[in-house]
Amino acid sequence: MAVWNLGSINEDIVYSVPHIPAAGETLAATDKRHYLGGKGTNMSVALARAGAQVKHIGAVGEDGGWILLKLAEYGVDTRFIGKVAHGTGHAIITVDSQGENAITLWPGANAEVPLDMVQLALSEARTGDWFVTQNETNLQEESARIARDLGLRVAYAAAPFEAAAARAMLPMTDLLVLNAVEAEQLRSATGQGPAELPVEHVIVTLGSKGCDWVTAQDTHHFDAIPVTPVDTTGAGDTFTGYVLAGLDRGMPMAQAIGLATRAAALMVTRHGTSDVIPDLAEVQAFRP
Ligand code: ADP
Repeated sequence: MAVWNLGSINEDIVYSVPHIPAAGETLAATDKRHYLGGKGTNMSVALARAGAQVKHIGAVGEDGGWILLKLAEYGVDTRFIGKVAHGTGHAIITVDSQGENAITLWPGANAEVPLDMVQLALSEARTGDWFVTQNETNLQEESARIARDLGLRVAYAAAPFEAAAARAMLPMTDLLVLNAVEAEQLRSATGQGPAELPVEHVIVTLGSKGCDWVTAQDTHHFDAIPVTPVDTTGAGDTFTGYVLAGLDRGMPMAQAIGLATRAAALMVTRHGTSDVIPDLAEVQAFRP
């Protein structure tokens, strides 16, 4: 089967600075690096590294050619990534010598994914495929509706949290993934805890404490694998990508979560995002 991911694509531009600039201050950076980022991209790369057939639906600007090449090299189908007028989404990340950061995010093309691209992509989908999305693009709700009507299963990572988007998505969602902060935000917005939501499977990730898999009937807890984390960026996206890849391959939920827990633990031992998401062989060989 295939996994269709409507998701953001960002260039992360990281500037090393002596300190985070104050209002009105001009400060020279001592280093500049750029990476492939965005929740959508991370999830597509995680899916591909986990062995799933992944089709990314999204948009970049005319400056995004290098990203398409890189994603294709990582095994992601990029045919449904449109090129639109606004530039590629990017994050300007300043990091000081203590590791504190400040981030300015420009959504750019991520807010302009064309509806006909979604329709074209999903016209190739088959019943039983997975559709997944997050909150960093336009068209989540419309796309999820098309996907459901075609008989796809819908997964949703409600991040970054937006109450209106979550309310619209929940009735169409088969698998919801939230981190602990998002679970609290959803509880404040809806008055409902994970077990009361109109969603068959909810996974609440708890960082170094692992995760809970919640259904209307019961809750199963999964411990994290103890590691020494060096960079937790992308842990959640790696986790969600691996859960979906496992389910897509026909694994029972508990086994898919077990695999994802190993992949995410290995991921937090590495610096970086998309480029360093571990592949299935590395996850299987991982002996913490
Ligand atoms: P997010 O990155 O979306 O905030 P979490 O921080 O909850 O998500 O992490 C997602 C998953 O990654 C966790 O459920 C856990 O399996 C794994 N993970 C995160 N942090 C650690 C850690 N310090 N040690 C081991 N595993 C971790």
